[in-house]
Amino acid sequence: MEEIPLVDLKAQYAAHRQAIDAAIARVLGHTGFIGGPEVRAFEEAFAAYQGTRRAVGVASGTAAIFLILRALGIRPGDEVITTPHTFIATVEPLIALGAWPVFVDIDPATYNLDPDQIEAAITPRTRAIMPVHLYGQMARMDAILDIARRHNLAVIEDAAQAHGATYRGKRAGQWGVAAAFSFYPGKNLGAYGDAGAVCTDDDALADEIARLRDHGRASKYEHAVIGYGERLDALQAAILGAKLPYLDAWNAARRRIAAAYTAALRDLPGVIPPATLPGAEPVYHIYCIRVEAARRDRILAALHERGIGAGIHYPLPLHLQPALEFLGARRGDFPHAEAAARTILSLPIYPEMTEAQVERVVAALREVLAAVSTRA
Ligand SMILES: *Cc1c(COP(=O)(O)O)cnc(C)c1O
Repeated sequence: MEEIPLVDLKAQYAAHRQAIDAAIARVLGHTGFIGGPEVRAFEEAFAAYQGTRRAVGVASGTAAIFLILRALGIRPGDEVITTPHTFIATVEPLIALGAWPVFVDIDPATYNLDPDQIEAAITPRTRAIMPVHLYGQMARMDAILDIARRHNLAVIEDAAQAHGATYRGKRAGQWGVAAAFSFYPGKNLGAYGDAGAVCTDDDALADEIARLRDHGRASKYEHAVIGYGERLDALQAAILGAKLPYLDAWNAARRRIAAAYTAALRDLPGVIPPATLPGAEPVYHIYCIRVEAARRDRILAALHERGIGAGIHYPLPLHLQPALEFLGARRGDFPHAEAAARTILSLPIYPEMTEAQVERVVAALREVLAAVSTRA
């Protein structure tokens, strides 16, 4: 039986091997592994793609979030409003700076930060709102920006899963003061290692982040401020540069696969396909359905037995993570995020997935739903 992984990085490399190998060979040829023309060229190309004045290449998505917060002057005691239904890297950087994540529950239909609950969480210490465009669908940025303007808060976008996504015709990174992108290998645009970028229209902020990522350098051995070692390296930049021209086609393929899944699953009892926010054009980094909590884990196991690489993104909300116990949150504080964590299930999705593979996943899910009883 053919296995269908959650993501298939080998299929993509096989399809674009020549361009990627040539990019790697170019860097090996000149051995300029740090900085240089590949990094500059990719930064320019990615800024043009996202529609922002600047893109600054950094070492990871986590570094991108960290450097935005640091450059904005987020300090110990500051509060940043964000979602509990995300990967932990959304909040690690602000905790590293001594700031405090303040969680606001999600909209259960879109899994993104619910703007209607944000104002109740604002205090005199609130400095910023950090929505995450989860699964590749943008948060309700118009509503979030309205609130931020009224309360004089910065909006930082965690766009690690949303390369190319739009809301009301504008891309991630064009809404907030800055957006953080991850090029972790499995992301919609993935490097062959760790990499990330900050997109912004603010030249001063971009310059400050460029300085901070490179040890606060004013010149080779003169350091204007204490910075970090968080650069994007030339090999990753060259690989990303070779892959970027295909991102739109890959995102279109993801949308086609998502549409095929949703059409096939719409009338399947016990399955809720993902909802699209009006005005949003998601890029389906993850295709996430909901099933009954009582049998979710057995459905997942039965899919794995059939060779289907389903997953859960994410099984434990941040406010219930052992590492964040010090925040003092309790079970029940964010009911929509907690319900999501118990019921969500991610199906395989990657641009090279064939129609036949989508049909096989749907057939396996049908079979499993019939076999796994609703009783625990
Ligand atoms: C992947 C991811 C990050 C972190 O990116 P890295 O490149 O792995 O550091 C942050 N936030 C979200 C929502 C992510 O999915």
